[in-house]
Amino acid sequence: MTDEPVSEQPNNEEDEQSASAIFIELMRQAAEKAVPKSAKSHHVGSAEALATPEGEAEPSLAPISEEHPIRRVRRRLVLRPPQRASMAGGFLGTVFVVMVSTALVATLLMFFVNPEYLNPAVVQGLQLDREELVGGIESARPTAVQTPQWLRRIGIISGHRGLGRTLNRDPGAVCYDEFKRVTLEEETINFAVSTRVVANLEALNFAVDMLDEFDPRLVDYRADALVSIHANSCIDYGEVVSGYIVSKSDARPDTGNDVFLRECIALNYAANIPLERSYNETEDMVNNHAWRKIHPLTPGVILEMGFMLADQEILTTQHDLLAHAITMGILCYIENAGPYASLARSGAKSGDYLVPILATPTPIFGR
Ligand SMILES: [Zn+2]
Repeated sequence: MTDEPVSEQPNNEEDEQSASAIFIELMRQAAEKAVPKSAKSHHVGSAEALATPEGEAEPSLAPISEEHPIRRVRRRLVLRPPQRASMAGGFLGTVFVVMVSTALVATLLMFFVNPEYLNPAVVQGLQLDREELVGGIESARPTAVQTPQWLRRIGIISGHRGLGRTLNRDPGAVCYDEFKRVTLEEETINFAVSTRVVANLEALNFAVDMLDEFDPRLVDYRADALVSIHANSCIDYGEVVSGYIVSKSDARPDTGNDVFLRECIALNYAANIPLERSYNETEDMVNNHAWRKIHPLTPGVILEMGFMLADQEILTTQHDLLAHAITMGILCYIENAGPYASLARSGAKSGDYLVPILATPTPIFGR
């Protein structure tokens, strides 16, 4: 006998089973004849023999050429369910491989993430001089999730505002006519622009603080950015004195976020307002009272929008445009947004771009 009829008809299961049963019955009868009576107790009915999972316990006395086909048939019947299970396992394995591959690719792509994407406040926290650190700040880590707008706090100081109509009232710079009567006060210009900047930023869902010149909130003030808005003197210098000035605290490092904020304000201001940039920073700008009060991690700059004599027309008629320019400058810093963000940041890092008059280094050799 051969096993060919059984093994070569895998698709016709019922025929195969009945043929097997007949075949097994024949084999059992043949085995009973061949096996001595003492070994007969190992053999049970043909129905039970079919249900036996393995054929390992087959009596060695039976001829191998006859026993071999039986074992093959039994294995096929028993092993079929595990084959279905391995199909499900293969699907799960595929899913696992896809997930692992995705994780690997995502990890590799992290190398190409722009570092400028990080929160500027965190970057400054890592760049601050050690003596300025109160403690524990060094453990700050950049967050992968971008801070929502309503958690971004921006402070706007409306220059010289807040003392009210008291005896100590400080209107800032003042313009007079030929009869020494006041024609224009700096505080009015500052407030007109500041309120518009605040409205612009609030419309973008930022948390904005409108601050007075000597606002008590300035003590240890914490924000993503602080901009103090001013206009420059109305003094007649005998020549045309024009231009805007943006200044940070002298106490802050020349490579930190204060410089980045300053350059963002300056570049966007220049792009929107037809005024030249001036670098005539005064002591009141670089050593402003606000810089001594605010938290060391709060970047702060003071903006002198223009001179109240030569640039008077812009300062009195272009409040919306002035506010727009300042808003764009703040967004440049806060969101790393706009055409000047990278330029401002590169300036913040090199320092050479910032003050062109100092860009030519004094040659040390040849002395
Ligand atoms: Zn002022």
